[in-house]
Amino acid sequence: MAGPSDTKRLSERTRLVLGGRKPAEQFGFVNTPIYRGSTVLYPTYEELKARRQTYIYGTKGTPTTRALEEAWTDLSGAAGTVLVPSGLAAIAVALQSCLKAGDHMLVTDSVYRPTRQYADGVLKRFGVETTYYDPLVGAGIADLMRPNTTVVFTEAPGSQSFEMQDIPAIAAAAHAKGALVVMDNTWATPLYFPPHERGADIAIEAGTKYLGGHSDLLMGLVTANARAWPALKETFDLTAVGAGPEDCFLALRGLRTMKLRLDEANRQGMAMAEWLSQRPEVKTVLHPAFASHPGHAIWKRDFKGASGLFSVILHPLTERQLGAFLDGLELFGMGYSWGGYESLVVPFDCAPYRTATTWNPGGTALRFQIGLEDVADLQADLAAGFERIKAAG
Ligand SMILES: *Cc1c(COP(=O)(O)O)cnc(C)c1O
Repeated sequence: MAGPSDTKRLSERTRLVLGGRKPAEQFGFVNTPIYRGSTVLYPTYEELKARRQTYIYGTKGTPTTRALEEAWTDLSGAAGTVLVPSGLAAIAVALQSCLKAGDHMLVTDSVYRPTRQYADGVLKRFGVETTYYDPLVGAGIADLMRPNTTVVFTEAPGSQSFEMQDIPAIAAAAHAKGALVVMDNTWATPLYFPPHERGADIAIEAGTKYLGGHSDLLMGLVTANARAWPALKETFDLTAVGAGPEDCFLALRGLRTMKLRLDEANRQGMAMAEWLSQRPEVKTVLHPAFASHPGHAIWKRDFKGASGLFSVILHPLTERQLGAFLDGLELFGMGYSWGGYESLVVPFDCAPYRTATTWNPGGTALRFQIGLEDVADLQADLAAGFERIKAAG
């Protein structure tokens, strides 16, 4: 197998199979193995002086990390990728690359909560001021920009509350004032939302979710377009926060089946969300692929699919009823993170930490991650839970 000379003409599915692979450099083995290493030896003094070789030190990359970087850069339509040990580390290194003391950052009020905690807890100490904005602001972001606003942070949809952001409109307004757009694209992944094509300068993916896919991996990926790449790469190199080789190997393994798993999550999630929407206990389903979702038109315009993560608002439950519902579930685990093969549920409340918008859904909020179990089994598990709510009423 010679391998294709130009991968750009190939479809995404084929690129997921080929991405980053160089069997000829690995004695013909299909997968790039786990390279562990700090020291890389130089053959001559001349080459040592010039640092003239592909790999120069463990923190600067190995064939394992390079394989994943190349595949992800290609998939994301980016200028480059850096790999870090978690999604939150990806957010941290991305923001460090484009902020300095005295800067102002705008962050969506629907943001992943640890991003907010990083901004308020760490960036603030380094002299960066953050203000939160209504996720539905769209082009109105222009009115919130200050002369020192250098970053507009976006996430679509919010990973609990599912507000859909108009990324192209926000990006156009931010770029007109010289700011960079950073996006947390964990929900859609580059398979369902091409971040750079839609206006993001830097995109973050928690590979912990759909790239890993098996709840056994922590991984963060940051991609950048040509404008943002030099600073991202320099910050990453100076910080040396690279992901470990075993984790990169597992992520590469996940990459090969990522589209199959994501498409299935999309189908399973829709089937469960539709079933839930018919239940009398459910007040609202928060799923952008539903025609009734306020952000549906944006989702349809900009996204190629949905993941298996969505929320529902139940008619208000007492704590006793909620406990009876959750504690008796046999298939849905209760726990954070998502994107694995198994179904999860967590109750949530955004009200205590929102600052730009009010979260008042008028009922009990639950977030579901739908895994690969049979949907009839999952529905029966929830139906039994709804019976326990009645009994505890
Ligand atoms: C999980 C998650 C992260 C962080 O990923 P970790 O690997 O758990 O640190 C970031 N953003 C979103 C939207 C997430 O769901």
